[in-house]
Amino acid sequence: PPLYERNAGKFVMVPANARRRHPVVEEKIKKLAEYAETLPINRIEPGDDTLGIVAAGSVYQYAREVFPQATFLKLGMVYPLPERLIREFASRVKTVIVIEELDPFFEEQIRLMGIEARGKDIFPMIGEFSPTLIRQCAATAGLIKEAIAPSEAAATTPASVELPIRPPILCPGCGHRGLFHVLREAGVLVLGDIGCYTLGVAPPLSAMHTCGCMGASIGVAHGVAKAGVKDRVVAVIGDSTFFHAGIHPLINVLYNESNVTAIITDNSVTAMTGHQQHPGTGITLQKKKTVAVDLEKFVRSIGFEKVDVCDPYDLDGLAKVLEEHLSSGQPSVIVAKRPCVLYTREKSTPPAVDPDACVNCGACLELGCPPLLQAEDHVTIDPILCNGCGLCIQVCPSEAISR
Ligand code: SF4
Ligand code: SF4
Repeated sequence: PPLYERNAGKFVMVPANARRRHPVVEEKIKKLAEYAETLPINRIEPGDDTLGIVAAGSVYQYAREVFPQATFLKLGMVYPLPERLIREFASRVKTVIVIEELDPFFEEQIRLMGIEARGKDIFPMIGEFSPTLIRQCAATAGLIKEAIAPSEAAATTPASVELPIRPPILCPGCGHRGLFHVLREAGVLVLGDIGCYTLGVAPPLSAMHTCGCMGASIGVAHGVAKAGVKDRVVAVIGDSTFFHAGIHPLINVLYNESNVTAIITDNSVTAMTGHQQHPGTGITLQKKKTVAVDLEKFVRSIGFEKVDVCDPYDLDGLAKVLEEHLSSGQPSVIVAKRPCVLYTREKSTPPAVDPDACVNCGACLELGCPPLLQAEDHVTIDPILCNGCGLCIQVCPSEAISR
């Protein structure tokens, strides 16, 4: 392998070097712009000269469906823009229309070149585009006649078929369900994060109250605690998210002294995005064995004294530990450890509901577990869907659920 080029003037950006390097960066951008002028993925596709459409990516495909005859400037490299190519394109057409999702990135740059262009006066700044949306906006602006595509008009399926809503939900047997059940019952303010466990916000669990961005939970909990909010606050963050973005805010909780209880939901994998490994699993992304960072040892090593590892399948045990942490008056960490059931593929014998013992109180349904179904005067369990985790057995006050 080549040796690393040791060139401090190029790679160490102390102010003196940064000042010297800035013109180099600007020169590179100019060269890239020149490169973009002749790059084949930036191309004019000739057509009718009434409309010239500027588009890139999937929006180009949608726009092509709506304006099959128009002249197009298809951009494959979107920064820096090829100014000469854009000027040539604009000179060939009567009206330049820029179609792009979200902010007017191309449109503003093209206008700054002194070229008249329309875009966000026709197409929205918000949401994803589709051929249907582009067609409707174009028809409203008078660019095309029909707001409905001929293929859609000919379709026999009514456009307004009402499909049942199927929101994402925690899987049967998911350990997060036990955690959020306990948090809801405790009535605490839950500052959340991004992962499968964000589904703790969904009814009937309804036990997550903020989720801003990846790694935000602990920092937000710290801020809320510092602001003197009277609610008891906990931060909930997944194991993978914790390794990714939760360590610094957790150190901040200690350093700047807030009584936050951080709960790391350890399902021992990066579940939401497809079961990727992470530093706690002991396996690399290349499937090689490696060191597994032990969450409990790690948080103790940075100075946390109150640390517990709990099984979120044990509802009473977890509730007891949570109460101890919240009343301890010190920053603390609970590792709620239960591997993802879709990863381990572990399953236990499904329980069943005794219809004579069930008083139809609905307590088990408050878990929001898909196999629990409301029958006419009692609840039933779909044994095919059920993972056998046993949470419903624990919450039934009538002992109507058993294996
Ligand atoms: S045992 Fe109960 S809570 Fe667990 S998966 Fe089956 S129905 Fe759901
Ligand atoms: S918690 Fe028990 S008694 Fe209540 S509805 Fe469910 S099975 Fe029936």
